[in-house]
Amino acid sequence: MPMSDSGVEVRVGGRADLSDLQPYRAPQQDAPVKLNTNESPYPPPEAFLSDLRDRVAGLVLHRYPEKDAAEVRESLARHAGTLTERVWVANGSNELFMQLLLAFGGAERKAITFEPTYAMHSHVTRVSGTRLLRGRRNPDHTLHIEATVEAIRVQRPDIVFLCSPNNPTGNSLSQEELSAICEAAPGIVLLDEAYAEFSGKSFAPMIEDFDHLVVTRSFSKAWRLAGARVGYLTAQPWLIEELQKVSLPYHLSAFTQALILVALKHSAELLSTVETIRYERDRLLRELSTTRGITAFPSDANFIFFSCDSADGSVVWQKLLDRGVLVRDFSDVTGCSGSLRVSIGTPEQDERFLEALNDALHDL
Ligand code: PMP
Repeated sequence: MPMSDSGVEVRVGGRADLSDLQPYRAPQQDAPVKLNTNESPYPPPEAFLSDLRDRVAGLVLHRYPEKDAAEVRESLARHAGTLTERVWVANGSNELFMQLLLAFGGAERKAITFEPTYAMHSHVTRVSGTRLLRGRRNPDHTLHIEATVEAIRVQRPDIVFLCSPNNPTGNSLSQEELSAICEAAPGIVLLDEAYAEFSGKSFAPMIEDFDHLVVTRSFSKAWRLAGARVGYLTAQPWLIEELQKVSLPYHLSAFTQALILVALKHSAELLSTVETIRYERDRLLRELSTTRGITAFPSDANFIFFSCDSADGSVVWQKLLDRGVLVRDFSDVTGCSGSLRVSIGTPEQDERFLEALNDALHDL
């Protein structure tokens, strides 16, 4: 233990309850074909970038930005077909999760996830000091709805995490499943819809039926703006008032607010690649379904989850990387043995992936 100049013992250790927690790391490894983080393979269009440059050039930077981002929330509400007081915005959906856990989690409270799912859900739960309960999905990665509802009834969690389409498995919830979960949940239900544009289906209108339902969205996937860090949610006003208590003042910079307004103006162009990616996803799924040694799972998102039937997933992952293709290795995650996830790229990138995979499987 270090000593300060005055001889006092300085307690510099981190929190004991986080001693086994690893920092969240999506590996930012370089490879000629990067298909590991579900970003868009297509950069945003020039017309958007040019408008953004003009808007940023005119920003007033010696003043704080608008605190509650009223103009941004109003414009997003118009885009989402809801009311301004039902919209809240943050620096990526990850920040929304952290704010939600600060507002509704904490000591003496508990949150439940149904694994395998997006790792940040359990991560922010632990960081916020909330007790984490991990439920499981079926071996084919669908939700066991009766067991899920039963776990919620028995455990009475303060927060239920759901993800549709689910990362990494790609499958969606049905409206009946979500209704059954909302009816059973005594606390808030956090539905992560980061990939909803690729499924063409959002449950956001259901916040009108369930006032403890929160639906989060992201600009990082379909909007092609992962670098900008923008996420928003829709929920009833009482819930957003709770989030306002825990969010830092001016958490959305003037740059971010300007970017969102310009992105909304260009929404049709930004989102125009969604169709291409969906088409490409369905093509890749057909190819993977006929590849011997692979079981590919249906996907509503911009990625495909697959398992290597008899091979060690991490060996296949390394062989793909040796051939210049980086995918995400899930083989050491409970319930995902032998499994990898590939993000949908351009048709050329996807061809490189298929060739590398066939080659890797022959080389086992
Ligand atoms: N939710 C899910 C399900 C994700 O997969 C990701 C990113 N991998 C996020 C949220 C994070 O989104 P954002 O970039 O908006 O923080």
